[in-house]
Amino acid sequence: MQKDTVLVTGGAGFIGSAVVRNLIKNTQYKVVNVDKLTYAGHLSSLGPARTSERHIFEKVDICDAAQMTRIMSSYRPRLIMHLAAESHVDRSIEGPGVFVQTNVIGTYTLLEAAFNYYQSLSMDDRSDFVFHHISTDEVYGSLGSDGYFTEQTAYRPNSPYSATKAGADHLVRAWHKTYGLPTVISNCSNNYGPYQHPEKLIPLVIGKALAGEKLPVYGKGENIRDWLYVEDHANALLTIAGEGTAGEVYNVGGHNELTNIAVVQKICEVLNDIKPKSDGGSYQDQISFVQDRPGHDLRYAIDASKIENELGWTPAHTFETGLRETIQWYLNNTEWRQQFKYSYDGKRLGLAHHK
Ligand code: NAD
Repeated sequence: MQKDTVLVTGGAGFIGSAVVRNLIKNTQYKVVNVDKLTYAGHLSSLGPARTSERHIFEKVDICDAAQMTRIMSSYRPRLIMHLAAESHVDRSIEGPGVFVQTNVIGTYTLLEAAFNYYQSLSMDDRSDFVFHHISTDEVYGSLGSDGYFTEQTAYRPNSPYSATKAGADHLVRAWHKTYGLPTVISNCSNNYGPYQHPEKLIPLVIGKALAGEKLPVYGKGENIRDWLYVEDHANALLTIAGEGTAGEVYNVGGHNELTNIAVVQKICEVLNDIKPKSDGGSYQDQISFVQDRPGHDLRYAIDASKIENELGWTPAHTFETGLRETIQWYLNNTEWRQQFKYSYDGKRLGLAHHK
């Protein structure tokens, strides 16, 4: 086993690229980045990490068992951080098949390759090996107006996306309980920050605001999410992968519960401040309420006391500081966003099953 090697799946995506950038900048790890480069992945999201001598890119589908076996046996990683997934709830409503394929079959394929590789290791190396599955709080379903998701909350996924992530979590748990593979699972709340695909709420609203278009808010905008800055999530993931206990689950959240309409209002306020409209108007005037998402979960909120108490992780950003940094980043990096214009035209997704 190469003790200095981490295999990251989905490292060209939003959170995966933050993990790779962090690993290259702040550690001496060699990073093997496995990504299929779907519509959601771009190597430009890696920034300077892309050309580091410690970054190796493999354009591979995690569902390809032969390729995953080759990658395990040639790089012999100490740690696997599995982030590759189909990740957009609205797309999962229109076409759930690819979500089942990547999130469930892909995770199964990766677990099998990892377990075969794990069995080839010496006892000493086995005690250092970790398989970390990066998952979502959406597996827990929807909360009412009070209470929090803890690691003990029962799974009640409501969207095809969250159902496939729940399936993946259960497979990871089973490979630990049944076969003894050392795994950890983390379930995190909504992330935001630089390099997020323009189909997701915060970059979508920033882009449409700057283009002078309507800012779509689903339903009455009353759904509540708990927002976490992506770099805080990447730090939490490195903490869990390094110090978490095999077989355990860790919830990760930002203590930033906000209604969707409050998020959109805050984006408008920051833009009014740092990029005032040339006609003197307010970005708030562009807000427009649209048909709600089918099966839209009302509220997610994370109790992150386990990771705080046991591993000492807390987020460094408040929503105010993180949002301002994020908006400034999108203003400074308009060319990064342009890459997505061929694969996503800003249209509404996810009103019905199409495939
Ligand atoms: P993303 O859609 O931005 O990135 C996913 C990456 O996976 C892309 O680079 C894509 O090319 C790659 N990928 C997709 N299918 C693949 C396949 N079959 N083989 C190899 N690579 C493939 O997603 P994200 O927002 O960065 O999310 C990363 C992980 O974190 C996901 O597992 C997601 O469920 C989880 N998560 C996301 C959030 C969030 O708010 N975004 C919150 C909690 C958990």
